[in-house]
Amino acid sequence: MDKKFNDLNSYFKNKFGFRVHKITVDAGFNCPNRDGTISFGGCVFCNSKGSGTGFLLQGISIKDQILRAKKYVVKRFKAKKFIAYFQAFTNTYAPLEKLKEMYDEALGVEDVIGLSIGTRPDCVDNKVLELLQEYAKKNLIWIEYGMQTSKDETLKIINRGHDYACLKKAVEITKDRGIKICVHAILGLPGETKEDMLETADAISKLSVNGVKLHVLYIIKNTELENMYNKGLYKCLTQKEYVETVVSFIERLPENVIIQRLTGEPHPRELVGPYWALNKKLTMELIKSEFIKRDTWQGKFSRV
Ligand code: SF4
Repeated sequence: MDKKFNDLNSYFKNKFGFRVHKITVDAGFNCPNRDGTISFGGCVFCNSKGSGTGFLLQGISIKDQILRAKKYVVKRFKAKKFIAYFQAFTNTYAPLEKLKEMYDEALGVEDVIGLSIGTRPDCVDNKVLELLQEYAKKNLIWIEYGMQTSKDETLKIINRGHDYACLKKAVEITKDRGIKICVHAILGLPGETKEDMLETADAISKLSVNGVKLHVLYIIKNTELENMYNKGLYKCLTQKEYVETVVSFIERLPENVIIQRLTGEPHPRELVGPYWALNKKLTMELIKSEFIKRDTWQGKFSRV
């Protein structure tokens, strides 16, 4: 591979021949790990906004959210086509008719060529997947499963409300339907060593997924993780530790897995730490330099 890793923009460029941009949509969903179905507290790092903007609840329709963002990204990035990214909370957690209505609304906007749907692995079944499979005949459909780690002990500590077997089952029933699968992994989870994190990379390699999003665990105000941090029960990764672990993680992934994200983007007003996470540009540069320094690449140490 020319590049050190298989990035999302190159994937879009190779597939379509032009720039495709993701537009984030807040469709007003909830999450079973927050509404009491599994728990009321949610994952220890999640606040009551669930990474959302709250736009739908403020009366801005899915279509209008896309149209507003479209204007901006066309001007700024010269993007031609768009993927509607259902990001906030759990975007398959509603009756099937409601889901269809929302996904149809997004796909009905001019130049939207696909969907990316973020969800929990315990919130999909054959009916939802059949719906997505139908869309996938004419559109690019990605499903993004919050995996976070392959270690059950950690999943318990972060109050995830599902185990690793649940993620494996979700991937199993999703594959071979024309739906692309991405998993999210978080580096720096409480109690995890670098070796634990790299075991998650090995687990992902065995899943035959199409993409991965990596995030550093950052502490947001008004979360259980903030309490843990204030009590001295949690210590953030340093930027150096994160950069080194990301590169080792990608070395262990197969070459064909698309790296959709290298680090998350905390909101400055909500962030408790680590503050280096605010400088995404620098983190990305350091990751690229680390690849060069080690003379390494994605898949160098892949075990599949
Ligand atoms: S699954 Fe997502 S939305 Fe639900 S509590 Fe966890 S991080 Fe928040």
